Amino acid sequence: MTTPRPSPAHVGPHHDLRGPGGVGLTIGKTFTFEASHRLNGLHDGHKCGRLHGHSYQVTVELTADELVGPGFVTDFGDLSPFGAYLAEHFDHRDLNEVLDVEPTSELLAVHLVRWFLDQVQPVIAGRLVAVTVSETPKTWARCTVRATT
Ligand SMILES: [Zn+2]
Repeated sequence: MTTPRPSPAHVGPHHDLRGPGGVGLTIGKTFTFEASHRLNGLHDGHKCGRLHGHSYQVTVELTADELVGPGFVTDFGDLSPFGAYLAEHFDHRDLNEVLDVEPTSELLAVHLVRWFLDQVQPVIAGRLVAVTVSETPKTWARCTVRATT
């Protein structure tokens, strides 16, 4: 006697998470880059007004109602264009030159959400939930994507 195995139909490409007993799934991937910035409009003596650098961490979060392939929200490899964008345009750059807004974590997160929605979202399976930008281990700014229903 062999132990019955689930038929391939149960492990196929369609994993619908909705309906009775429905669950929610979120995945995340963290990217890093090094960059400098200086914030304008602060009172004299504010340390963020001086040119300085951070080891930035950027985390994207995605969700989906239906999984693809072996059971993915999105194949992490499909996020590589986002990593390439960060590496090319942000790594070892002066963010004051890269962005046309003040380079705060908040405004960087908003910029990255908009870029992701425009450039990556259309060609991946999942949908973006949020982008979190962190300049230090203890601080972060999270820009969330409002659901469109
Ligand atoms: Zn800073």
